[in-house]
Amino acid sequence: MRQLIAGNWKMNGTAAMAADIAAALAAAGELPCDLLVCPPATLIAEVARLLAGAPVAVGGQNCHARASGAHTGDIAAAMLRDAGATWVILGHSERRADHGETNEVVYAKALAAIAAGLTPIVCVGETEAESQAGRTQAVVGSQLAASLPEGFAGAVAYEPIWAIGTGKTPTEADVTAVHGFIRGELKRLLGPAGEDVRILYGGSVKPDNAAALLALPEVGGALVGGASLKAADFLAIAAAAHA
Ligand code: PEP
Repeated sequence: MRQLIAGNWKMNGTAAMAADIAAALAAAGELPCDLLVCPPATLIAEVARLLAGAPVAVGGQNCHARASGAHTGDIAAAMLRDAGATWVILGHSERRADHGETNEVVYAKALAAIAAGLTPIVCVGETEAESQAGRTQAVVGSQLAASLPEGFAGAVAYEPIWAIGTGKTPTEADVTAVHGFIRGELKRLLGPAGEDVRILYGGSVKPDNAAALLALPEVGGALVGGASLKAADFLAIAAAAHA
């Protein structure tokens, strides 16, 4: 399966910035990977319109677990779909920390996303303290078991929280070990279908470390934050992917 390079713009972006990045991505031509951009909700429809016909998918950064109703400020999965999104990031550590999202909430959101025709990317990852205490696999294992609905056919992003936006990355041996562990858990939880779930690495992926990270076993792509805000950097990461 081709690797997936996904850009998470977080709470960044204006219409002008979106137009610049979309134009660069649309002009990029053939890439050795699948490409996805997840702008803030205000820009999804516009980015989807700008990228119509280009081999670049558009996704949301979150959705509500309910299909509609009295949830001021929230966005339903079907609304993302209606705006042109086909993917949604769920359970990002910033959502878990800023909005108290538990594994159970992420599970409910994943069900809602799938029902609306979106492909979820479920994020998991440990804190620095948990990493230092040797608890990475325990934390990630329990996040996977409680967040992934039966029949899950999206992607999982392993994002050590201490590596997000810090410039720090785990060693190649650690990424290999955690991705191998996640693959085993996916097969245990989902059966043979667990073999087909792409496991993205996220956390300070940049043009200068992308090739090494993307070459590691069981790394099925990257979830890219900061570097996705510069089209040249994002495309350099995409160029380092392999089929
Ligand atoms: C992220 O937000 O998912 C992320 C990985 O951010 P960064 O690439 O900036 O570390």
